[in-house]
Amino acid sequence: MLSTMQDVPLTIGRILAHGATFHGRSTVATWNGEKAVASSFAEVGARAAQLANALRDELGVTGDQRVATLMWNNTEHQEAYLAVPSMGAVLHTLNLRLPPQQLAFIINHAADHTIIANCTVLPLLAPLLPQLNPTLRHIVVVGEGDLAPLDGFSGGVHRYEELIAGRSTDFPHPAELDERTAGALCYTSGTTGDPKGVAYSHRSMYLHSMQVLSAESFGLTSADKVLPVVPMFHVNAWGIPYAAFMAGTSLLMPDRFLQPQPLAAMITAEHPTFSAAVPTIWTGLLDELDAHPGTYDTSSMSRVVIGGSACPPALMKAFEDRYGINVIHAWGMTETSPLGSVSHPPAGLGPEETWRYRLTQGRFPASVEPRLIGPDGTALPHDGESAGELEVRGPWIAAAYFGGDGRPAEQGEKFSEDGWLRTGDVGTISSDGFLTLTDRAKDVIKSGGEWISSVELENQLMAHPDVLEAAVVAVPDEKWGERPLATVVLRPGTGTGLAELRAFLAERVAHWQLPERWSIVESVPKTSVGKFDKKVIRKSYAEGELDVTTLRKGE
Ligand code: ADP
Repeated sequence: MLSTMQDVPLTIGRILAHGATFHGRSTVATWNGEKAVASSFAEVGARAAQLANALRDELGVTGDQRVATLMWNNTEHQEAYLAVPSMGAVLHTLNLRLPPQQLAFIINHAADHTIIANCTVLPLLAPLLPQLNPTLRHIVVVGEGDLAPLDGFSGGVHRYEELIAGRSTDFPHPAELDERTAGALCYTSGTTGDPKGVAYSHRSMYLHSMQVLSAESFGLTSADKVLPVVPMFHVNAWGIPYAAFMAGTSLLMPDRFLQPQPLAAMITAEHPTFSAAVPTIWTGLLDELDAHPGTYDTSSMSRVVIGGSACPPALMKAFEDRYGINVIHAWGMTETSPLGSVSHPPAGLGPEETWRYRLTQGRFPASVEPRLIGPDGTALPHDGESAGELEVRGPWIAAAYFGGDGRPAEQGEKFSEDGWLRTGDVGTISSDGFLTLTDRAKDVIKSGGEWISSVELENQLMAHPDVLEAAVVAVPDEKWGERPLATVVLRPGTGTGLAELRAFLAERVAHWQLPERWSIVESVPKTSVGKFDKKVIRKSYAEGELDVTTLRKGE
């Protein structure tokens, strides 16, 4: 029997229309270094329509052509987020922290027709121009700065405000848009090999936005104001820009002011209730707050989501104990839109057990189905103990890469024969659906017959009050195959010795997991999205660039 229900396509255009009208008074504000400059959702919606009209009528964007953005989190970026998919084109967010040759590769691979770029990033874009294919026809510049860096570009160069001024505020909706067509394109950060494109559909983004809003996920409402520190150029800022327009949640955009001091200042001045970012951002912010007691006011912020890499328990506890901020741990990846699991503990538990749940990577929602695959390829039980590689499937999980050549090797590495995404993450799942990751498969330290979790050692080290950051990687060892190397950043002004750190760790992990190789470093290298870059640490070690001290038992 067919259902008797209406079949209405789930599209970004629907989210735009809803937010701009029924939540017209909610705001998008962008920090300019001193204060936030706000526009209403109604204004943002009208300007998104003007942008879409300009892209279509002036720049000739048609069909599913790609319109890329090379932008910080700001109001114009939100306008592009809404305008481009709603007109039927594909929004391609470019990660402005990628190495230049990868950026050029991505722009050419996606065959971008137009790039909308912040003026402040033109020095990054200009040197790429000679490598870009002629498929790139236009560059639209947001901001007042000098356009001279683009002099060598043979296509059209436009100023955003001049381009959209005076255009119709009626949105040029395409006649019919299939919800399964792509609305946005985001490339992985390319930690191994060339970056790969994930093309999100209107349907997947719509459903994902509803999940982001759910109380079991971020729980955003029209009473919230969100500070998305997680960049809009990486996995759609975790879906927050669309979810916000769906729920009327106001946005406070940090633009390029992502250092701890301006973040603390904007929280104090603008009173956001919620924020989201990777752990390294929060480590920096915590340090800034602790170093300046009484200077900042974070009392408006009731909860923050931390994900993208494992959240050190010490960080979660510090925010909760010292600033009353509820830290919610979440797991996801570019291929999962990104929301996978979110750690809301079950009700009715004592404090200790509640914390045990909160420290996990969280529970899977109904639409993300997980399974664990053991070394022999069979599925493992969800008993909280059996550890295997996590695979997932669901309506906002990728089934393939954009423009991939479909080689069996490529498909087989990331997608199983029966269509599940292979995450490359290793962990356990409890019977009530909570994921605990031990490591990324490629970061696990294989010592003799045993596996050592680099994340576990890092978390324990970062619980030491004098340790700002700690990254642990596998290095080759004659006897054991691999052993852990601990690289540690000490808080300024502290003089803890390595032997003391080793003793601290010895009280917390099994003795065979204790690293023999230690190195104090000034900072941990980070990837383009702010995660520890373990590839770089392994390379520095291999090339003898690290000052390594060897500590063994009794030394
Ligand atoms: P990249 O692969 O370039 O880092 P992604 O943002 O797609 O880009 O990274 C996804 C990966 O980040 C996951 O596969 C996982 O290894 C890691 N990750 C994300 N969230 C968490 C978390 N809460 N705990 C541990 N690892 C996480």
